[in-house]
Amino acid sequence: MNILIINSGSSSIKYQLLEMPSTQVICLGMIERIGSKEAILTFKSQDYKIERICEIHNHKTGLERITDLLLDNEKGVLKSTDDIEAIGHRVVHGGSTYTKTTLINEEVKNKIKTLSPLAPLHNPANLEGILMAEEIFDTAKQFVVFDTAFHGTIPVKAKKYAIPNELYNKGIQAYGFHGTSHKYVSEKANAFLDKKNTKLISIHLGNGCSITAIKDGKSIDHSMGFAPSNGLVMGTRSGDIDHAIIFYMVNTLGYSLGEVNELLNKESGMLALTGFNDLRDIESEASKGNASCILALEMNAYRIKKYIGAYIAAMNGVDAIIFTAGIGENSSLMRQLVCKDMDYFNIHLDDAKNDLRSSTFREVNSIDSKIKILVIPTNEELEIAKQVFDLLS
Ligand code: AMP
Repeated sequence: MNILIINSGSSSIKYQLLEMPSTQVICLGMIERIGSKEAILTFKSQDYKIERICEIHNHKTGLERITDLLLDNEKGVLKSTDDIEAIGHRVVHGGSTYTKTTLINEEVKNKIKTLSPLAPLHNPANLEGILMAEEIFDTAKQFVVFDTAFHGTIPVKAKKYAIPNELYNKGIQAYGFHGTSHKYVSEKANAFLDKKNTKLISIHLGNGCSITAIKDGKSIDHSMGFAPSNGLVMGTRSGDIDHAIIFYMVNTLGYSLGEVNELLNKESGMLALTGFNDLRDIESEASKGNASCILALEMNAYRIKKYIGAYIAAMNGVDAIIFTAGIGENSSLMRQLVCKDMDYFNIHLDDAKNDLRSSTFREVNSIDSKIKILVIPTNEELEIAKQVFDLLS
């Protein structure tokens, strides 16, 4: 059975076509920097590897370009769109309604739309992906896997805010995000540790960044909250800020609420600190001595360190720290900044192992480190395909 996975991010679409249950990847690729004149389109199958720089205005054009490649006479992998039996979509916010893989219908689409104000960078892009896929692959069954689902195990003491109870009853609580990724890498780490009870800290560093405390395979705390905006410094999102700043900006500085929302989600984070939101550009500038870029990298790593300390306290220990996603897997500098001066916790990086470029699971701690430091490539697409296949079976 051919299952296509579509993972639309704020400025990217990752796709993967898998044959299930063999999990054989027929082709995969992504579009990065959507909205820019220099978007990067990649496609990889058994026989072809393509990388194109082209202008891609929005997610709709992006999905059309991907479909063109899938159906290409020479390099494509499908004869017709009917060859795809099911599509699995990653959707960021499912609220407390959806904690399992779900068949898409009008009600589900409406709920994703209703939850859009809580995930303004993602739910609209995710929904756009679903609507486009329904149009293009009209014979395929469409499913959704929510990022919030894995965090359903977070205990009330960690997910409830200290505000009046009636608001909790109205659904105001921390939900948690990047659940498919945290679930996938933590299961890999648990298999590697081969231990009955484990305490893991999973750090997902991509365009969006989050950190999760995982005890015995269950998420017990997480840095993002009601929406995917809290916690770590991200590409364009501020992460933790004092909510009094919002009132000061509106009441004293004259911003509208809409402007503040836009500013905190799309114009903050690494972009605000450096002028760039791609960590590759920031690292390159920092290596040339750009002081704002050096400071931004330090701020980013400092915030991650604070959460690591908090989660070690929450679990009374940790067996392994996991780095994953675009930055976590590829930036040896970020891993080095995070793990520096953590000897109190017995966390020691092996610089040579850390600097080795690889796209596979690897252990980058030194042999005297009590805590394992693991770089685990995430595979949200495979996780989604497994969940869709299980449901269909
Ligand atoms: P993701 O959301 O997981 O696709 O990650 C996207 C982020 O990963 C972008 O901010 C990229 O800058 C970052 N990234 C990708 N490759 C590298 C690399 N080789 N070094 C540093 N950052 C990278």
